Amino acid sequence: MNALTVRVRLAPSPTGTLHIGTARTAVFNWLFARHLGGAFLIRIEDTDRERSKPEYTANILDGLRWLGLEWDEPPVIQSERIEAHRAAIQQLLASGHAYRCYASEAELAEMREAQAAAKEAPRYDNRHRNLSAEQEQAFLAEGREAVVRFRIDDGATIVWNDLVRGEMRWSGSDLGGDMVIARRAAAAAIGDPLYNLVVVVDDAAMAISHVIRGEDHIANTAKQLLLYGALGLPAPVFAHTPLILNGEGRKLSKRDGVTSLSDFRDLGYTADALANYMTLLGWSPPEGMGERFCLAEAAAVFSFERVNRAGARFDWDKLNWLNAQVLHGLPAEQLLALLAPRWQAQGWSSPSGDVTWELELTALLGPSLVTLQDGVEQARPFFERPSLNDEARLQIESEGAKPALAAVLQALEQADPGQPAGNSLPASNSLAADQARALLGEAAKTAGMKKGVVMKSLRAALLGSLQGPDLVATLLLLQPSGEAIARLQRCL
Ligand code: GLU
Repeated sequence: MNALTVRVRLAPSPTGTLHIGTARTAVFNWLFARHLGGAFLIRIEDTDRERSKPEYTANILDGLRWLGLEWDEPPVIQSERIEAHRAAIQQLLASGHAYRCYASEAELAEMREAQAAAKEAPRYDNRHRNLSAEQEQAFLAEGREAVVRFRIDDGATIVWNDLVRGEMRWSGSDLGGDMVIARRAAAAAIGDPLYNLVVVVDDAAMAISHVIRGEDHIANTAKQLLLYGALGLPAPVFAHTPLILNGEGRKLSKRDGVTSLSDFRDLGYTADALANYMTLLGWSPPEGMGERFCLAEAAAVFSFERVNRAGARFDWDKLNWLNAQVLHGLPAEQLLALLAPRWQAQGWSSPSGDVTWELELTALLGPSLVTLQDGVEQARPFFERPSLNDEARLQIESEGAKPALAAVLQALEQADPGQPAGNSLPASNSLAADQARALLGEAAKTAGMKKGVVMKSLRAALLGSLQGPDLVATLLLLQPSGEAIARLQRCL
């Protein structure tokens, strides 16, 4: 394959936000294009005028950009191409591949009922395929409207070599009879062109070499191949990717809750981890590559030979693992850049007013984060004074805890004389880690307590919980603003 001729596209319908399945299709298209040095294009399929919304188009493009799936030409807007679609329908009418069908909705419903009663599969019975000029005149005189149908011969065999599924073979008789390619319209008008027709016309106009899309489109591919033939257009190569399944092994759907890319983003998954994870949904990396990689690394080795036919089960554990890998690998500055907007959204800002404190907090929390949202929950007690949970309260009430805390408080006040709680201190006035450790040791000695009891009680007092990050680092972060002292005083 000449690299220059490789042109693939993603053809999302802007009738909802970017779905994880569409995003995964985008990933495979992008990987294939980048692997072969081809072009990755976008076509916005907005012909469903009622359901298509500009904000969905914006959401889809924004999501693709965020994932790093940049496209190579301005997106094609399908609704702007309606003249080309109509022209193709005219061509099919003129060549006899298509005809007007005047059957009314009531007649079609009756036909389907009869088929159901006879236990036959529902299909159009091609009843208006060969109307005489007089019959057509009579229908028009009745004021009937007509759809345009494309002839599908029952005897036709459609064969293609699918890049994922190998040789595919369909019989014309399995395609439901002559297919509607334009909606109902009056007399000689052509109504709105429909999906299979417009996709073929647009893919050909965009010189698409490979159509890579979900396996739910396989029957459409059979119909589209017939259209390519009738329109005298060269057909692209097809690759049908496996569906994404939920935990029960059924197709992932809206009912599974989190399915839109923006949901994953809001939950705190990084673009890197999601792109990595979506690549693994159906594709196996070559031996030795491991499962953690960036898109460029995957593009270097991507091929459809390693795409499975079986559905790909969505695995939260793996996504979480990948996201943690990404977060743990980020330098504090980069992690902070991801966390800062979430902290700002909570109305939080650094008590010291400078970025050093935020960087130190980020460095402290970073190693335990699975999602960025964890970075909000775990940071909360550093920005907001927490109430004590039950365990923490029991600890503070336990024997020896208060004298231990009083000793720590005294030591802190001595280390930090005269600073009222709530004021920010210059960093030079804060404790250093060694000093803080010594101070805690001293306090334990003064109170005659085990250092462990002092530590546990101090954690309860500072964080309102017995769980949390390194205690000395926590103390160092809460001390300069006077928060550590205030939280101890509160418990005493
Ligand atoms: N608009 C169609 C969809 O979102 C495009 C399918 C295709 O790739 O042809 O399912």
